[in-house]
Amino acid sequence: MVQCNNCMWSGEEDELVECEDALGIFKGCPECITDAYLKDKDEIQDEIQE
Ligand SMILES: [Zn+2]
Repeated sequence: MVQCNNCMWSGEEDELVECEDALGIFKGCPECITDAYLKDKDEIQDEIQE
């Protein structure tokens, strides 16, 4: 599960849209069309447990 900290969209990784910039193709938020604000929710939970 991933969440966008810009628009607060959240969903599964396979719901991300393919984006392309000068560096190539990447998966990004369907609202923002960028991965700059994406956060893996599983990672957040791991940080809390530790
Ligand atoms: Zn977003």
